[in-house]
Amino acid sequence: MQYRQVPKNGDSLSVLGFGAMRLPTRRGRIDEERASRQIRSAIDAGVNYIDTAFMYGESERILGDVLKDGYREKVKLATKLPPWHLTKPEDMETILNDQLKKLQTDHIDYYLLHSLDANNWKKLLDFGVFEFLEKAKAAGKIINIGFSFHGDRKTFKEIIDSYDWVFCQIQYNFIDENTQAGKDGLLYAASKNIAVIVMEPLRGGMLTQKIPDDAKKIYTSAKIKRSPAEWALRWVLNHPEVTVVLSGMNDELHIAENITTCEDAFAGVMTPDELSIVEEVKGIYLRLMKVGCTGCAYCMPCPFGVNIPQCLSFYNQYHMAGNRMMTRGMYGIQLMGGLGGTPAHASLCRNCGKCVSLCPQHIPIPDELKKASKNLDGLRTRALIPIIRMIFSRRKIND
Ligand code: SF4
Ligand code: SF4
Repeated sequence: MQYRQVPKNGDSLSVLGFGAMRLPTRRGRIDEERASRQIRSAIDAGVNYIDTAFMYGESERILGDVLKDGYREKVKLATKLPPWHLTKPEDMETILNDQLKKLQTDHIDYYLLHSLDANNWKKLLDFGVFEFLEKAKAAGKIINIGFSFHGDRKTFKEIIDSYDWVFCQIQYNFIDENTQAGKDGLLYAASKNIAVIVMEPLRGGMLTQKIPDDAKKIYTSAKIKRSPAEWALRWVLNHPEVTVVLSGMNDELHIAENITTCEDAFAGVMTPDELSIVEEVKGIYLRLMKVGCTGCAYCMPCPFGVNIPQCLSFYNQYHMAGNRMMTRGMYGIQLMGGLGGTPAHASLCRNCGKCVSLCPQHIPIPDELKKASKNLDGLRTRALIPIIRMIFSRRKIND
């Protein structure tokens, strides 16, 4: 494993951090045994930075158990304070104490203000967040203070300049080089000796699953054979300003592949030819992508049952992947109850607006769902559903 130093405290962090946001599931629940095996084996392979958050469902509680048997001492543990859960200043301490209890630890090594943008930032300032952070630090409950960010670049710089942060966490990958904090923000933070943790290096799977055909051709014709995940991770780690790249891992093969990639994905080693391959792929994505959803599910649950991230993922897939009929068929199965289950398709949106302020990507969700619905909820998908049912019932008989 390759390690990079945090400028302000000298900590040596593995360049690959384990993001515990998308732990493996089984029958709709987190598969705790499998998650434990995955996280412990990653730590055994040298990963020493584990990231979770109050709002990642059961993740903090599960990590508390996973990090028993000496694993807690092997890692730096990061978790986050959710601004949108606060109704009064005292809630900050209540939440931190709850996090320490769930994580079964007496301190958080890296504590972040979660998903800051202009609105959240103002709310935290009004609640006296610095006083809370300093008090928690003096009590030894938190060690290093940082923030994660999903706002605009001007706000990012304002936040960077407002406190002596040890680290920050930004969304960064080859299609987000110029969105949110972007490369400009990355360089700005690094110029202030602030360690930068990168999230969404694979953009919630968009850069590795259902790859546009033209992008596949570019990868296939490249002299060096690499998986799309490897290209994307190497691109992020090629930046010397990046300290850790977080990957929300839940598949043993992907974990092993990422660990291998991170062994020698040193900063500044990608050649101009390699960089131009990524640049070409990026151009294809930016041309085809309809909506910048990362699948984080912060907008969920929808009171009317819409599975927002899945609807938007299918919408992108419809425009990016080759076979539109297949995309419609899968949408019919998964979101329109084609094989039973509760419908969760785009046209169920009643435009109540509840989800809009929760989206860190600032996506106008109801508008995008309307467009997705036009492409995917219509007669052509509905006509496919009986065919899909027939195919599946035949399969059952044949099985
Ligand atoms: S605006 Fe639509 S998708 Fe968003 S919460 Fe309301 S009904 Fe659900
Ligand atoms: S719509 Fe926004 S909040 Fe919802 S999953 Fe996508 S990026 Fe996350």
